[in-house]
Amino acid sequence: MGRLFVVNLEGKIYSCKHCRTHLALCEDIVSKSFHCRHGKAYLFNKVVNVSVGEKEERVMTTGMHTVADIFCVGCGSIVGWTYETAHEKSQKYKEGKSVLERYKVSGPDGSNYWVSHGAHIGGSDADDA
Ligand SMILES: [Zn+2]
Repeated sequence: MGRLFVVNLEGKIYSCKHCRTHLALCEDIVSKSFHCRHGKAYLFNKVVNVSVGEKEERVMTTGMHTVADIFCVGCGSIVGWTYETAHEKSQKYKEGKSVLERYKVSGPDGSNYWVSHGAHIGGSDADDA
C-alpha cells in the first residue's frame, strides 16, 4: 500500500466533490469560460493532487490539442484534463495548464455546481470570448 502524499492548499480552494482533496486555488484560475460535456469548466495555471492519464490527440472547437485526463489522487475520479500541446498558435497559452470540470469540484465556499438543464454544448472545449 503506497502512502498517499496530498498537498494542502490555503486560501480559496477548489476541492474534489467526492473526497475533499484540494485540487486548485481560486487565484490560479486563468479562464472561467471553458466548457466540457457537462457544463462549465475552469482553466487553471496549476492543479495539485492529480494523476495524469495517457496523452491523446483531441479535436476541440479551438483545434487540435494533445491532452491527458487528470484524476483525483484521493478517489481516482476524473476531474478534468490537462493540455500538453496546443497545435493552433492562438491556443498556445493553454499548454501546461489544466481544466477542472466545474461539476466535479466544490467551490471555495463549499458550493457545488449542478449541471443546468438545457446546456447543450458540443465538444469539450470552447473559444474564449
Ligand atoms: Zn477525490
